[in-house]
Amino acid sequence: MKKVLIANRGEIALRILRTARELGVKTVVVHSEADAESLPVLLADEAICIGPPSPAESYLNIPNILSAAIVSGADAIHPGYGFLAENAAFAEMVADHGIAFIGPTPENMKLLGDKATARKIAREAGVPVVPGTDELASVEEAKEAAQEIGYPVILKASAGGGGRGMRVVHTEEELERAVLQAQEEARAAFGNPAVYIEKYIEEPKHVEVQVIGDGKKVLHLFERDCSIQRRHQKLLEEAPSLLPDEVRKGLLQSAVRLAEHVGYVSAGTLEFLVDREGNYYFIEMNTRIQVEHPVTEMITGLDLIRMQFLVAGGEPLKLRQKDVEQRGHAIEVRINAEDPEKNFRPAIGQIETLHWPGGPGVRVDSHLYAGYKVPPYYDSLLGKLIVWDEDRPRAIQRMRRALFETVLEGPGLRTTIPFHKKVLDNAFFRRGAVYTNFVARRMGGD
Ligand code: ADP
Repeated sequence: MKKVLIANRGEIALRILRTARELGVKTVVVHSEADAESLPVLLADEAICIGPPSPAESYLNIPNILSAAIVSGADAIHPGYGFLAENAAFAEMVADHGIAFIGPTPENMKLLGDKATARKIAREAGVPVVPGTDELASVEEAKEAAQEIGYPVILKASAGGGGRGMRVVHTEEELERAVLQAQEEARAAFGNPAVYIEKYIEEPKHVEVQVIGDGKKVLHLFERDCSIQRRHQKLLEEAPSLLPDEVRKGLLQSAVRLAEHVGYVSAGTLEFLVDREGNYYFIEMNTRIQVEHPVTEMITGLDLIRMQFLVAGGEPLKLRQKDVEQRGHAIEVRINAEDPEKNFRPAIGQIETLHWPGGPGVRVDSHLYAGYKVPPYYDSLLGKLIVWDEDRPRAIQRMRRALFETVLEGPGLRTTIPFHKKVLDNAFFRRGAVYTNFVARRMGGD
């Protein structure tokens, strides 16, 4: 591999660029008109504008991205996360042009990309899933299933993602309307109206397993706890989880079994919910690098993007499971341009004053610089602050220290930093009493 085209923006484009440069691979960063002054564009060997600000016309514009790859002579494309990362048709087209797609195979994506299909595959592989249904054919079927499963239930879109398209239903009276609304929402948001039902698990932990495969074998790189969420979207992640050893072992083995079942290639994440009794249930697989991958890198010392590059270049994984070791504890906080006081409403502006923390065990993944104007067209992630230390209490102290040093100010700008400071001071968080309803129950949010 000599030249990679990075089909993404923001912090993840920068993250990929950093590893590519260390590998001696040249970088082409494609960008929208709104991102012409962004850091990955400024640092790239080559930059190509692929369209106007709206994602549909730029970061999702397959003809323009492929043309950019051909014109620049790129022999690989890394899609990052979001945008085209989990689009099997795109991965197929990339391969058809003789370009390596740095990610899973189109077949992997087809089998696991649709949540209802992924549930079937998990059952086939003997991995527990949340009690529930396949895609619903009718409201009648929904009623019967919900009765059998027991309320509350959660309606989910098969094509869903990003915490959207989910609806909790407490009684049969609410069900019919909820199904029709959920189908309509799913059609509007994802172009696919299919929905299914799962039992609603009360106060679970969200624990996910990082895996990497080369088509022959799959390794797990341990797990992350991502229970601190607002509106089903992650805000703070840590590794390892605080699960008892036997539960953790079962979870890691299940993840590997499922990924091996489909001959998984590249980095991927299997998400599970774990209930109060320690039962774990697979909910979905993300067939891409994830925002929270750095916490895994911090406890294992591995570079996941580098591993993705090597696997995509056809190198089998040299590492064996027993060589993968974990050390200490890592925490990541997502710094979003959102106002936590106003229900996490986007609060974007220009970055006037910027100071990132440093010192031992501190990592910053961010595309910001002083004077940078955050464009309003994309997600609100400004960067990620990640810390590592010997154990969880020390990692918490280190994160508090790092956040104390961080200054991120500008007109109109609000960030999630004050929220994270409160979480770190919260007695329940410190005890490890973290569940997906933590923000609602302990922080007065939703
Ligand atoms: P998305 O793909 O939109 O992120 P997920 O299926 O990964 O959706 O679920 C996101 C979050 O929604 C979970 O981390 C959890 O907080 C909540 N959730 C999903 N399914 C259930 C369930 N069956 N019971 C309780 N909470 C759930």
